Amino acid sequence: MIRRSFLKNTMLGIPAMSGALPSCTNNKKPQKPIIISTWDFGKAANSEGWKTLSANGHALDAIEKGARITEADQSNKTVGYGGYPDRDGKVTLDACIMDEKGNCGSVMCLEHIKHPISVARMVMEKTPHVILVGDGALQFALENGFQKENLLTPDSEAAWKEWLKKANYAPVMNIENKTYQSPDPGFFPGSIDNHDTIGMLALDSQGRLSGGCTTSGMAFKMHGRVGDSPVIGAGLFVDGEVGAATSTGVGEEVIRCVGSHLVVEYMRQGNSPREACKKVVERIAKRDPEKAKNIQIGFLALDNKGNYGAYALQKGFSFAVKSADEEIVIPGESYFK
Ligand code: ASP
Repeated sequence: MIRRSFLKNTMLGIPAMSGALPSCTNNKKPQKPIIISTWDFGKAANSEGWKTLSANGHALDAIEKGARITEADQSNKTVGYGGYPDRDGKVTLDACIMDEKGNCGSVMCLEHIKHPISVARMVMEKTPHVILVGDGALQFALENGFQKENLLTPDSEAAWKEWLKKANYAPVMNIENKTYQSPDPGFFPGSIDNHDTIGMLALDSQGRLSGGCTTSGMAFKMHGRVGDSPVIGAGLFVDGEVGAATSTGVGEEVIRCVGSHLVVEYMRQGNSPREACKKVVERIAKRDPEKAKNIQIGFLALDNKGNYGAYALQKGFSFAVKSADEEIVIPGESYFK
């Protein structure tokens, strides 16, 4: 099922949706424990993470277990197994994980390993380093018991072969609810979702915050291209004193402003999670208004009390929330209406 129709169906079950849209701002009262994730597919990841959180487990475990659900879902073409390959037909994965004390780990351009989030956690816990890339990351994963697998599914291979017929390299991302305007209309076969990352943030019952981010990145990207998702500060940032943030969308633009770190710093200055996300989106829009019209970027934030919020450039962004009080998918507010 494509994301758009899934979103529509998911929302039909939400009572608040029958009247006004739920406010996409902050929750009414802080909730702890809580887990939130980007996009509607975050709902399944949250459910898995919730098993840990509701048993008073650690937020970091909730994040890793939740992210693994999306990574293993071959119907998801933008994360993990079954993700669209790069323009050379290789599935290269990016992921990072971080806790409230600033411990973090990241893998970039990792091939053949189904669960990059777990390799990132191992980089964090078993090495004195933060980032491993490419062959080095693969070697590390294999040395630590991960299995080498083929991650290119027949569906994704077929989509790549279709793309190869024109192979116009114009990496602009599709935007939900908008007519995609590529310089070459043949760039994307049909209206596939050519991006979308799962970024997850969790606060456990003991007040520990953690986050994770995992993606196959931009479909048919240049081999070796890395976006914001595994870049600590860009795709994810966690600071136990304040809160955590994660992003999805055109990674290059998020890296340029170190987006997730910026969201956390705005929260440190007293802004709510939603206000902090909005401020960063506005900065991106102001820096290059023309470019901003044609790209999607969404930020999601959670403070250390359990308040959450989100904001995106374009319509179509959504995020999933799970706590003892609610399990919902919420449409994100956007800069362009
Ligand atoms: N941020 C990801 C990247 O640039 C893609 C996405 O989240 O849509 O690789």
